[in-house]
Amino acid sequence: ALDALTGTGSPRDAGSLIGADERHALLHMGGPVRDLPDRRFTEIFEELTVEHPDAVAAIHNGQRWTYRTLNARANQIAHALLRRGIRAEDPVAVVMDRTLDWLAATIGVLKAGGVYLPVRPDFPPDRVATQLTRSGCRFAVTEPRSAPTLRATVERACATVTVAEAYASDSVGDPAVPVGPDQLAYIYFTSGSTGAPKGAMCEHAGMLNHLYMKVEDMRLGPGDVVTQTASQCFDISLWQLLAPLLVGGATRIVDTDTQLDVGKFLDLLAAGGVQVIQIVPAYLDVLLSTVERDPRALGDLRSVSVTGEALRFELVRRWFATYPDIPLVNAYGATEVSDDTMHAILDRAPERGFVSVGRTLRNVDTYILDEHLRLVPTGAPGEIVFSGVCVGRGYINDPERTAAAFVEDPFRPGTRLYRTGDFGRWLPEGTIEFLGRRDEQVKVRGYRIELGEIESRLLRMPGVGQVAVVITGSDEQSRNLVAFCTGPDTPQPADMRDFVAAAVPEYMVPSYFHRLDELPLTENGKVDKRRLMALAETLG
Ligand code: ADP
Repeated sequence: ALDALTGTGSPRDAGSLIGADERHALLHMGGPVRDLPDRRFTEIFEELTVEHPDAVAAIHNGQRWTYRTLNARANQIAHALLRRGIRAEDPVAVVMDRTLDWLAATIGVLKAGGVYLPVRPDFPPDRVATQLTRSGCRFAVTEPRSAPTLRATVERACATVTVAEAYASDSVGDPAVPVGPDQLAYIYFTSGSTGAPKGAMCEHAGMLNHLYMKVEDMRLGPGDVVTQTASQCFDISLWQLLAPLLVGGATRIVDTDTQLDVGKFLDLLAAGGVQVIQIVPAYLDVLLSTVERDPRALGDLRSVSVTGEALRFELVRRWFATYPDIPLVNAYGATEVSDDTMHAILDRAPERGFVSVGRTLRNVDTYILDEHLRLVPTGAPGEIVFSGVCVGRGYINDPERTAAAFVEDPFRPGTRLYRTGDFGRWLPEGTIEFLGRRDEQVKVRGYRIELGEIESRLLRMPGVGQVAVVITGSDEQSRNLVAFCTGPDTPQPADMRDFVAAAVPEYMVPSYFHRLDELPLTENGKVDKRRLMALAETLG
């Protein structure tokens, strides 16, 4: 794929094209070096709780928890897990809706030395069962609200603590479980291209570095409020919850219903008291369409971070046409590297007509390499690769896919780097232009999806022969997943939809299913997805 991008069919020695000065520069495109406190997130949060116990830490549906309350609740959950026998690095499935209790459970798991593994209560039980098995998860925190079939699945696999039971105990003191900087903090399952989701593992030091990155980026301070809008299974939800708690600020959990009704979300901002939000480009688009029709002020909003997929220039232009005084941050990163690694802070639409992903953030090293892990010259496309404290531990119980993506850093022996699978090129001023993905990962409404996962699910359905799933629509709003299947007696579209929906989240279920006699192939004998995409556009 890289050869295709560079326009050369044969390997060439990228290194030899680079002079000593440029090589030196290319090896030093890292972010600022910053001391990371030799304490964990939980310890810093506990210190702040002692300093100002009555400050507001979290808000949801008009309910406010102080630092004291949140810390006590988290401690109760930690103690309940410790009573169940949790040990260092045991994964704990947190099967909860986005509520204040969910926040307490997240912190409680970290305090107990466990590994936070978020599970959405509305996910299909089969998918959850796979994640629990793959991660060897034996503990869970649940709430009575989750569906009975899901609860049964979780309870079969895990020793389960309910929040009600944890809160009934009077152990509210800090558990003081020693946790090292290299200890695992969390696992997020991302959609895997071979059909099985990958559980990306990150450590405490990487998480803390990222949380401070957001504090710096958004200039978060005491009293600042960040909205918590992302799904529990999207890693950005973690900083939305925890970063303000490092500096005496608060997180405000916004229900999905409020977000889906953009007018309500805008009302919430207009009412004041929110300084920082982070959204995906698709949501920014919807939000802009609304305010362009019906302009309104956004209260105390000071910074808008956009992440998850490429930020189109057009959106940036429209933003500054409407809100010239509120900066946009294009945040770029991946779950495997503890979330963000680069950013561009914009205070107006860039003159050159596209948006870069900006510069490298603190304690991260960035390289652009060819397929043999050699530096490519400034301006040449290559794979974006990260090194440093951000690099996670790999995919849980998946040595093969871990070895493919996490390799020794050839320039800093003894450390590991992560190959993002994203293409980019260095611009002369030291920022990166994002050039798309190597594989077939796509984003729909900000959710990360590997088309291969949907295909492998459909392939398991009786009557289905070959399968190809493609994405249509050039902009986020008109984007659809479309499935093509072969086979003389392929099932009805509605049945296929149900079959897929039983295994994957709703945003991964194709909108259209079409039967073909055979799938078109490229010269190399691969399914010709370009032709299928064109066909999907015409079929609608
Ligand atoms: P994140 O939580 O940072 O969105 P995910 O693990 O869900 O990370 O997805 C990571 C992938 O999303 C990246 O490898 C990249 O392809 C894409 N991505 C994330 N942020 C951006 C961005 N600002 N611009 C372009 N692509 C992005």
